[in-house]
Amino acid sequence: MSRYPAAVDVAIVGSGPNGAAYARILSEEAPEAVIAMFEVGPTVSAPAGAHVKNIVDAEERRAAQAASQGPARDAETVSSPGAVKAGARTARPGTYLLEDGFRVDGEDGLPVIAFSSNVGGMGAHWTGACPRPGGSERIPFLPDLDELLDEADRLLGVTTDAFDDAPFTALVRERLADAVDPGREEGARVQRMPLAVHRREDGALVWSGSDVVMGDVTRANPNFALHDETLVLRVLLEDGRAAGVEVQDRRTGEKHTVRARFVVVAADGLRTAQVLYASGIRPAALGRMLNDQAQVVYAARIADAAEVAARAGGASGESFGERDVIDGAISEQSGVSWVPYTDEEPFHGQIMQLDASPVPLADEDPVVPGSIVGLGLFTAKDLQWDDRVEFRDDATDAYGLPAMRIRYRLTARDHEVLDRARARIVELAEAVGEPLGERPFTMPPGASLHYQGATRMGASDDGRSVCGPDSEVWGAPGVFVAGNNVIPTATACNPTLTSVALGIRGARSIVRRLS
Ligand code: FAD
Repeated sequence: MSRYPAAVDVAIVGSGPNGAAYARILSEEAPEAVIAMFEVGPTVSAPAGAHVKNIVDAEERRAAQAASQGPARDAETVSSPGAVKAGARTARPGTYLLEDGFRVDGEDGLPVIAFSSNVGGMGAHWTGACPRPGGSERIPFLPDLDELLDEADRLLGVTTDAFDDAPFTALVRERLADAVDPGREEGARVQRMPLAVHRREDGALVWSGSDVVMGDVTRANPNFALHDETLVLRVLLEDGRAAGVEVQDRRTGEKHTVRARFVVVAADGLRTAQVLYASGIRPAALGRMLNDQAQVVYAARIADAAEVAARAGGASGESFGERDVIDGAISEQSGVSWVPYTDEEPFHGQIMQLDASPVPLADEDPVVPGSIVGLGLFTAKDLQWDDRVEFRDDATDAYGLPAMRIRYRLTARDHEVLDRARARIVELAEAVGEPLGERPFTMPPGASLHYQGATRMGASDDGRSVCGPDSEVWGAPGVFVAGNNVIPTATACNPTLTSVALGIRGARSIVRRLS
């Protein structure tokens, strides 16, 4: 007996935040619709799709991360982006790298491009920064973008106050503001980073994953079912329109067909394009205009932290508890500040107080919690038609789908913007305190984990886009694409809020057509 239904109204491929957003909107607005979500990876947390950082037991958390690493379950990983050494190809916990095909000789490639294969996707491992796009990052042909972003905030559970009690956050923001704000419009000034994180009533921090995006309404929907460990091999078309999916049960190896009126492919920044390619849906723009946000990181130390803390009667000398130190990422001690992107200064700044110094400090020099500040500037790519993911007909990946080959170069303009970012990050570090380390570190391409463009949205079917403003693939009615891959602009800000916003528009379009 197959564990799959013979037919549904909507098949969703992928259980990350974008697939989850479709499930949520459909559950809220079309509760009669029968929905099946297919996820190639296992369920690693409870509720399904929950962020692994919410797992209290460190061993269990590490097991959940390893189980998310697809074919690289046992590979070594490093937790903080700053820990990646030049040239080292190491993935973050919960993610895995492309084994080969990440660079063609003579090009930059995307050597640390990464994936997660688990219920919740990368959204079970992310930092949760949810800034809004500004200036040219915005999608000019969507008049309802702001309302969609508001809705995305609701689905992702975005807050700005979760870290208000963390030491030194206000001080860091004040110091950054002195260096950044003069001449900027109010919305572009230094502010708290909107984060998909909230505090439970007992005070514990909860990171949003797909569980939060789906919400109780999806979990309680008797017409919704999530099928984990299920690979979608291809989208089935009949007379050119969506007819269902062919899936493979990863537990038994058996293949099945599930008929569907609508298929939403939300299989991440690269694999969404892969599923379309494997289905014979190959518009000219498929895989093209691929873009990653080049990233520069640095750190500073609030040298006068002990005095500031003493003046405030605060945290100086406190030691970290076990729950506070999680994988070098944000913790109870972390404030996260946002330096918004502007077209004049085309970088997006994510400034986080770290729980450990990325460079060794003298032993006699104990770290005052919150006093080590990690600075990251993401830059917007100079979009190029030739930057792309290609799919091979003569080789397959670990799942048996067409193998990827990345074609990717940084242009002269990309290098110029990176030079500016390196200079700017030094100024920001000096504004915050005492820079740590001789110079900023430029991350290897792909490190942002923000891969955009491969199934980009367009206002019209002009051969430069894969889908229309409702995320429906041109020439393949009923097939929708979701994820950062849909974003047509070169954003520098963390893109998940924006991609979820676009998904909400797509889901509403399906709702209208279901009735
Ligand atoms: P994913 O979350 O990647 O989910 C796609 C799912 O599809 C995966 O589970 C995959 O297994 C599944 N899938 C793929 N192919 C198939 C197939 N053929 N059949 C069935 N299932 C398939 N973004 C931000 O905006 N802010 C941040 O602060 C941030 N920090 C991050 C920090 C880390 C450490 C990581 C790993 C990511 C971070 N990101 C951040 C990126 C963010 O997690 C992604 O943008 C987001 O998860 C994308 O959602 P998605 O649903 O499109 O894709």
